[in-house]
Amino acid sequence: MPVWHASTILYPTLADFRRPAAGKIKYGRKGTPTSRALLEAVWMLESGGKHKGGGVVLTPSGLAAVTLAILACVERGDHILVSDGVYEPTRMFCDGILAGLGVETDYYPPTDLAALAAGIKPNSKLIFTESPSSQSFEIQDIPAIAELAHKAGALVLMDNSWATPLFCRPLDLGADISIQALTKYPGGHADLLLGTAAARDEAVYARLRKLCTLIGIWTGPDDMAMALRGMRSLEVRLARHQENALALAQFLAQRAEVARVIHPALPSHPQHALWQRDFTGATGLFAVQLKPEFGEQQLAAMLDNMRYFAMGYSWGGYESLIIPVEPVRGFAYLGGDAEGQLLRIHAGLEDKHDLIADLQDGLARLHD
Ligand SMILES: *Cc1c(COP(=O)(O)O)cnc(C)c1O
Repeated sequence: MPVWHASTILYPTLADFRRPAAGKIKYGRKGTPTSRALLEAVWMLESGGKHKGGGVVLTPSGLAAVTLAILACVERGDHILVSDGVYEPTRMFCDGILAGLGVETDYYPPTDLAALAAGIKPNSKLIFTESPSSQSFEIQDIPAIAELAHKAGALVLMDNSWATPLFCRPLDLGADISIQALTKYPGGHADLLLGTAAARDEAVYARLRKLCTLIGIWTGPDDMAMALRGMRSLEVRLARHQENALALAQFLAQRAEVARVIHPALPSHPQHALWQRDFTGATGLFAVQLKPEFGEQQLAAMLDNMRYFAMGYSWGGYESLIIPVEPVRGFAYLGGDAEGQLLRIHAGLEDKHDLIADLQDGLARLHD
């Protein structure tokens, strides 16, 4: 698919201009062959060829997909429930923007269905889930949450950036809108920002389309073409991310410097059974908590001198990353000791033996 640059798209005749084919105005913001190819590819993955009438909108970032999907479902006076394990900027949007628009947000413990049920109000319009949670990696029971929500007339949104639709299909689990940061694995090379929100039903899809059209949300053709190219190798890349992350997690779990490894595909994970039920794979992102005796100086000795692991935000690209994170809320649900630095690791596409050797040397530097 070539990169089709918008804005003006020419009409051959006056008759065509007066009565455009299929009643559609031709203008870059209304779509191009590049955007349609990407939308179709994402919808095939999200829907698996089912869910007639639904569809996808493209947004300039993953965060924009989150915020637009929420905005499309609420009005002033509404109430929403958001997982306490949610991506931090999602929380900042709810508290910093939605509250000012007269939409109230409550946060629920990600793995406590009874607390969630008790938090549902007559004006609750949606439950926003993210599974696994950012930083703390709890797995949520999406089918059970969907049943609760639908009984109360609320929609379920799921941020599925971690798994991608190749390893989890939120729409099949009962979610009404599935959200992805294409920035992460679909892009795959840490060089673009895009997001998608996919709706199972026609009415919800129409709300998403209307909001994006009227707010003027459009995405750049070069980024769309790069996302299409990334998606061609998504399946083989995910297999490698999965293999590498599991190898690193198993290595780290044996180390004396490590208090625990938090990876949904390890049997030690508290919701491992839910992960097995609802996911067909694990990607490259997980966390490890060091023992409390290692301070900032030891941590700097480790992280400043890594050979393959780099420090930086975002993930899903080819390269391995490691950063310190502070899941203040997550520890409440994970149980155990909140002392001890948590590190978020993204296993890239490098040779796993090189990565393990790099971690081994890094952990040794904690004792310098
Ligand atoms: C990265 C991320 C986003 C935001 O994606 P951007 O494209 O960086 O805006 C949203 N949700 C989750 C879970 C993420 O990890």
